[in-house]
Amino acid sequence: VRFEVTILGSSSATPVFNRNPSAQLLNVNDKYYLIDCGEGTQLQLLRYGLKAQRIDHILISHLHGDHYLGLVGLLSSLHLNGRTRPMYLYGPKELKEIIEVQFLYSQTDLRFPLVFVETDSERPGVIFSNEDLVAETFPLEHRIPCTGFRFTQQPRLRRILKAEAEAAGIPAEVFPVLKRGLDFTTATGRIYRSADFTVDPERPRSYAYCSDTLDTRSYMAWIRGADTLYHEATFLHDMLPRALETFHTTARQAGEIAQEAGAGHLLIGHFSARYRELKPLLDECKSVFEKTQLAVEGTTFTL
Ligand SMILES: [Zn+2]
Ligand SMILES: [Zn+2]
Repeated sequence: VRFEVTILGSSSATPVFNRNPSAQLLNVNDKYYLIDCGEGTQLQLLRYGLKAQRIDHILISHLHGDHYLGLVGLLSSLHLNGRTRPMYLYGPKELKEIIEVQFLYSQTDLRFPLVFVETDSERPGVIFSNEDLVAETFPLEHRIPCTGFRFTQQPRLRRILKAEAEAAGIPAEVFPVLKRGLDFTTATGRIYRSADFTVDPERPRSYAYCSDTLDTRSYMAWIRGADTLYHEATFLHDMLPRALETFHTTARQAGEIAQEAGAGHLLIGHFSARYRELKPLLDECKSVFEKTQLAVEGTTFTL
């Protein structure tokens, strides 16, 4: 079972020092979900050998350019490369108009259905759910409407104790029943109890993504207990006035948020263009929350 994220961009505002604007590729059982799509995202996918055609869902947190300016380019390339499978796009309602007007004036009639799902920056809710995961949005506090995302694996089936099951002569066809926690009665009346031949499955894991936000802690309920929390850490804490003015978070605050949320691990990103070296941001964050890593481009994190 695969549940991992590859960082495609971790810069705020402008691309600098070889850092690209925000984008991440979530891989859940070899299905791809793109989270934000800053300028140059399709080039980043190529660079890291990730097939854009395998993306079926794109989630955009908000309409600042560093989170979506790569979107039309990516969609255009998918169109030119012959995509026919639907693409699901989630984002603020104005995004639909932005995309439509660009394809209208280039007289591009997309070969694939682009299914737009409007996100709500006022109320949390589930935006989609499939056999692999549930995706939710929740409000963040930014200068313009902005949502975070939380991805939670679907509960897994119980695990068969193979040696015990085989020793008891249970036919493999019965396994799916036992895995669902049900007992099985044979034609001769023999009962195989699920509890005797299975163990609890692994706990569903979750990944929370907070793109751009003030440290209001208003979204704490939605990130609580996340196995991995991605949180922006645009500035060092000595820039707090600037962070407040621009509705961003400092590295120290990101550490405090992870601590308060009881997150397993913290990934920080969305680094200001003023920092060539990222280690001071990492150190400041780790002084509060030890299990912190930098969202370095090209790195894949198991969630
Ligand atoms: Zn941003
Ligand atoms: Zn922003």
